[in-house]
Amino acid sequence: MSQQVRVRFAPSPTGALHIGGVRTALYNYLLAKKLGGKMLLRIEDTDQNRFVQGAEEYIQESLQWLGITIDEGVGVGGPHAPYRQSERSAIYQQYAQQLIDAGKAYYAFDTTDELDAMRQTFESQGSAFQYNAVTRTRLKNSLTLSAEDVQAKIAAGDPYVIRLKVPAKEEIRFKDLIRDWVHVHSSTIDDKVLMKSDGLPTYHLANVVDDHLMEISHVIRGEEWLPSAPLHVLLYRAFGWENTMPQFAHLPLLLKPEGNGKLSKRDAELGGFPVFPLEWISPEGVKAIGFREEGYLKEALINFLAFLGWNPGTEQEIFSMDELIEAFSLERINKAGAKFDINKAKWYNEQYLRQRSDENLAQTYLADFDTDKAVKIVHLFKERVTFPQQITQEAKALFTAPTSYDEAVVASKWNDDAKKGIAAFKDALPAIENFVANDIKHALVAELEKLGIKMGKVMQALRVAVTGVGAGPDLMLSMEIMGKDEVITRLTTALEKLQ
Ligand code: GLU
Repeated sequence: MSQQVRVRFAPSPTGALHIGGVRTALYNYLLAKKLGGKMLLRIEDTDQNRFVQGAEEYIQESLQWLGITIDEGVGVGGPHAPYRQSERSAIYQQYAQQLIDAGKAYYAFDTTDELDAMRQTFESQGSAFQYNAVTRTRLKNSLTLSAEDVQAKIAAGDPYVIRLKVPAKEEIRFKDLIRDWVHVHSSTIDDKVLMKSDGLPTYHLANVVDDHLMEISHVIRGEEWLPSAPLHVLLYRAFGWENTMPQFAHLPLLLKPEGNGKLSKRDAELGGFPVFPLEWISPEGVKAIGFREEGYLKEALINFLAFLGWNPGTEQEIFSMDELIEAFSLERINKAGAKFDINKAKWYNEQYLRQRSDENLAQTYLADFDTDKAVKIVHLFKERVTFPQQITQEAKALFTAPTSYDEAVVASKWNDDAKKGIAAFKDALPAIENFVANDIKHALVAELEKLGIKMGKVMQALRVAVTGVGAGPDLMLSMEIMGKDEVITRLTTALEKLQ
């Protein structure tokens, strides 16, 4: 393809950006970067009833957080500005007029009541009403009224919409890059409204006009827009733009974790996982959790989303953004829906967390601790947690002496040998000069050897005495971090309490 690759992410600011939208943005971005093209951000805010305060900023902040950078569009500017559809009304009016003048669209004056009555008549006869090539001849529009009547009505300020004059018998065919050929007959499409009575365009008109004017080469969007695509093709045809029409790629749906049906906000609530990139507080004050605040690293979320509907065709699962750009292709996007498996997202998070250096995590999540100690704490927990803030929680827990002891462990492990061994170990601790894991361990081994007690007999009892529970990270290192005095205190308490 000689034409420059130009793709766009075109969300409507109707609330928090859904994670499916983030995936759409990501795939657009990956293709643009892969093919040396441009990524646009266009805000489709022509539906004033659905506009939500703060949603546009939320979209921008989400993309920024994830490193999906915009080359052109809202917040950046560019040669086709403005990129907010609410600021482009005059452009849509001009193009709607162009269709009217060419006889490809018409004014319709039917009131809601009239259309409702029509619908009822049809229903009573057992069929569904559509405003189309057949019915338009019996309705109140510029095809049935005289030119004078039409002018008089417009001059009088009668409300009207502009509808596309969908041809009665035309074959619509286009090749979707993911779904292959799509065939639809124009008789199945109704005369869609292009301009509403408030003078604003509908999604269809604004979307097609903008994709044309902004020289979009590929329309990559969710499968829910596939039913609109034939109409869009008709619009390109009506404008005479079919030759430069963008290529379409409709992405597979995101499915519930069990795989049956579309992923919903409700699934997320039930499963306790986010479906929004960032925390979102609706204008009504309702809060929804976000991936960022839950502790997902952006690299992990990107990697996870990339694999929701695409695969590289190899075994490799860990991909940085640059590697994704390198490996990405529309050909490897699946048709079938992608199960939203939150456990996979967690797995990715663990992988990326482990890739970060102890120093970096210590600085970010344990800023309150002295660096040496913080690095050791990170080392202790890095392999055991899913989210970085768990390191902070674990660190806090580490410095909190147990207030109770796991009863099952006590019942099975706290016996005379254990008590004897632990008491001897406790008494040996003050003499340890350099209180580090290795030396602590040597002291324990030495004391137990003297008593002829096996290490395996004592370890879990010692752990429960120090931490209150029967399992956890490296105990010697844990004790090193707690410090000598703290360990002695805890052992003294345990020996007193656990008789
Ligand atoms: N405004 C539409 C949305 O909210 C855009 C669909 C498209 O990409 O054409 O998803």
